[in-house]
Amino acid sequence: MPKKQASGKLAEPSLKLSTRGTARLHARHPWVYRSDIVGANDDIPPGALVRVHDERGKFLGTALYSSSSQIAIRMISHGSVADLPALVAERIRAAIAYRKENNLVANTDAYRIVFSEADFLPGLILDRYNDVVSAQILTQAIDAQPARAAIVQTLREELQPAGIVERVDGRIRELEQLPPRPSGLLWGDKTSTEISVNGVRFYYDGLEGQKTGAFLDQRENYAAAAQYAHGEALDAFCYQGGFALHLALAKCSSVTGVDSSRAALERAEKNAALNARDLEWIEANAFDLLRDYAAANRRYDTIVLDPPAFAKSKRDLEKALGGYKELNLRAMKMLRPGGILVTCSCSFHVSPHDFLKVVAAAAEDAHKSLRVIENRGAAKDHPILLNVPETSYLQCLIIHVSN
Ligand code: SAH
Repeated sequence: MPKKQASGKLAEPSLKLSTRGTARLHARHPWVYRSDIVGANDDIPPGALVRVHDERGKFLGTALYSSSSQIAIRMISHGSVADLPALVAERIRAAIAYRKENNLVANTDAYRIVFSEADFLPGLILDRYNDVVSAQILTQAIDAQPARAAIVQTLREELQPAGIVERVDGRIRELEQLPPRPSGLLWGDKTSTEISVNGVRFYYDGLEGQKTGAFLDQRENYAAAAQYAHGEALDAFCYQGGFALHLALAKCSSVTGVDSSRAALERAEKNAALNARDLEWIEANAFDLLRDYAAANRRYDTIVLDPPAFAKSKRDLEKALGGYKELNLRAMKMLRPGGILVTCSCSFHVSPHDFLKVVAAAAEDAHKSLRVIENRGAAKDHPILLNVPETSYLQCLIIHVSN
């Protein structure tokens, strides 16, 4: 039972951290694992705001509590918090202002508004797609009704969208022991729209596709790749045509997009029509296709590799590196001298150092010399919060390949 104070008010839940847990917070990482909480914590309600102290009782700040995740608390403030919905509203406004004041979003009506911990709102992702906002709610505290109401209210005030759609990840709700719920509208009546990214147009359907529907983190990399791309281009793992369409609207003479998902390719084809371009779309396993094309001596001037995350956990690292090496090796072999390789990894467990090393090893086997033109990451609306390595996961190398 929650304790009552003498005044009759419910006392705010509080807990103490071990020396290790305290050290993590001092290192400015917002997560503390359950094993670093000292004493019992099973009387704290799921999703509660908790006051956090060190072992000697010194107040460290306020956190969101999860009763089920191994990450038991996620810090939301280094001070006291009286009202979570008010803080959620304030943080959303601050994230919008951060992007505006620092000019982080240009040439697009689709971008990330809030990126969870990186915008000091653990468990909330908000993406804007023109007049539709897509929300992902990933923690018990943010899932509670007052926080949800604050999200909707603030988005309406700040952005006046025609629809706010919630994208539900069933697996995460299960992990957080939240009751299942379907994806759907939180407010308004619009779930799909059209977006324009660097002048390239795409259909957007808030209730379909991966992530919140598109790969907004690649937005700036599309434009960068288009600067160097030329000749005949191949976009392996093309999804709905993000890179492929940017290349087709730049100076490439032909563009082929490959993906194993038929649904993604159908959408890619519609996106191409929207931009009055005709591309070739091939439904295939990119590994097989690259092997067959390499064996058949097919040649390209530009190749984009943007596979799904191969390393979902540390355990997968070796296998993942093998996958990246194979793909990059085949692509390098197929590039004509002076060709451009755009190669990406979205595996957080593959460090920038590992990735460069694996691409270099592929170059050695392919007998090619590589010059890195650009070494890039996620677009600026996906902030990297230093000291929180999990916020830095995307790598995109743009490489000039010669014999
Ligand atoms: N470049 C895209 C995002 C790619 S996401 C963009 O910017 O929008 C990774 C894509 O790889 C997904 O569309 C998925 O369907 C596809 N995929 C996964 N495994 C594959 C495989 N073995 N062969 C081809 N495509 C694959």
